[in-house]
Amino acid sequence: MASRVIPVEAFDLVVFGGTGDLARRKILPALFKRYCAGQMPGPSRLIGAARSELTTEGYREVVRQALREFGNTDGGPALEGFLGQIDYVTIDARGGTGWQELSALLDINDHVRAFYFSVGPGLFKDLAERLQGHRMVDANSRIVVEKPFGRDLESAKALNRVLCGFFDEGQIYRIDHYLGKETVQNLMAVRFGNMLFEPLWNAQYIDHIQITVAETVGVGGRGAYYERAGAMRDMMQNHLMQLLCLIAMEPPAKFEPDAVRDEKLKVIRALDPVEPHHIVRGQYTQADGVQGFRDDVDNPRSKTESFIALRCHLSNWRWAGTPFYLRTGKRLKGRDSQITVVFKDAPHSIFGPDTGRHNNELTIQLQPNEGITLDVTIKEPGQGGMRLIDVPLDMSFAEALGPDADAPDAYERLIMDVIRGNQTLFMRDDEVEAAWAWTDPIIQGWEARGDVPKPYDAFTSGPDTAQQLMRRDGREWRGIDS
Ligand code: NAD
Repeated sequence: MASRVIPVEAFDLVVFGGTGDLARRKILPALFKRYCAGQMPGPSRLIGAARSELTTEGYREVVRQALREFGNTDGGPALEGFLGQIDYVTIDARGGTGWQELSALLDINDHVRAFYFSVGPGLFKDLAERLQGHRMVDANSRIVVEKPFGRDLESAKALNRVLCGFFDEGQIYRIDHYLGKETVQNLMAVRFGNMLFEPLWNAQYIDHIQITVAETVGVGGRGAYYERAGAMRDMMQNHLMQLLCLIAMEPPAKFEPDAVRDEKLKVIRALDPVEPHHIVRGQYTQADGVQGFRDDVDNPRSKTESFIALRCHLSNWRWAGTPFYLRTGKRLKGRDSQITVVFKDAPHSIFGPDTGRHNNELTIQLQPNEGITLDVTIKEPGQGGMRLIDVPLDMSFAEALGPDADAPDAYERLIMDVIRGNQTLFMRDDEVEAAWAWTDPIIQGWEARGDVPKPYDAFTSGPDTAQQLMRRDGREWRGIDS
């Protein structure tokens, strides 16, 4: 089943930081795939803008290499056409270089203009000022910004003030690429498109929900950034919170940007403060030929966490009494991201006590292979009485939808949403601030206590205390697949 491609109007996408890691790793390959799908119609342009002194031809070579390195393609016959739609401007975000040239390039048409700020947040104000000063932004323009969106409530508010000082909130697209994942959107389709689940989607029927985002990689070349951020700021405050919102929110009246974002905001605001004994922080140590976190961030006394697990509660009618367990970490035993909704046991077992405990679990697998599984209890086949087993009803999307099913990368989907002007999958200012308002006291708490993360061996499931967090409630984490 090939996916349907919805045409878009011609556009100009300016990527500030167009030579950087994010642009080469994600934005350029995503745009090439959309070009191949016919979603970068003729007069559309990608304009790279960065500090490097390159000609347009030189930048096209950067793009060619990025596709090879990160897009796994030499571009094939489509490459030349794609490169032909690419321009480059050497620009200084903090000075005067390049702004006239960029303005002249954009002035030749009235396409939708999207400005992707793929640079550190320290440059947002400089870029915004210069875009306004050169009158490049009109009502039809969009600004795309990446995480990290602040490092606490105060800095997030300051960033919002900067951006909202120059642009309308309706023009600002704050990316959380988890929201662009096909399965994450499927979560909403499964919940709100079927009668089956929604009546059971509450504390009466659901024992608990667990969300795991496990990575095998360490901090890579981002040691300095990560040492200041840690797993709480880098992953929990944004990606895991967004997943929590989608799983816990009330049905919006319509699948429209503010209707969806209003419901997500209510979830964040309903979160109770987290008790200190419901938080486990960890830091990986060396193992299997990789060095430990402290060496990776070049700080032998680092107190930054590379792993966090916590239990939280939502004080609202639907979820009172159902705990949510969230964990994320680096250098874990597998790259495995999943949400598991664990339903309560049947109220009475008619098959007697010997058949064991059985319950339904709905697992939404985000990576590596996107899909949804529902564990159901059935009779074990064969003679010998009524023995029960749990078997998965597996809906691997690749299998169910066929080999041609096209699961676009999150960035493909999100960039096209920017061009179409659809903000549903982007975070609004108040959402980001509410998430920090919940996160800040947690971080301040461990800073005040001088909390040191628990060490864990690289390529395990994290510190033992994370297992205990669940076990003392009589529950278990689902295994991390390696
Ligand atoms: P990078 O250091 O690799 O690239 C920075 C880019 O900004 C370069 O193109 C550089 O030329 C340009 N630049 C820097 N100073 C400039 C100036 N004064 N004027 C004009 N251009 C300037 O950074 P990156 O990894 O691509 O990250 C960009 C942003 O995206 C950061 O905020 C980062 O936190 C965020 N981000 C990155 C990733 C990733 O995978 N790399 C993932 C999520 C978010």
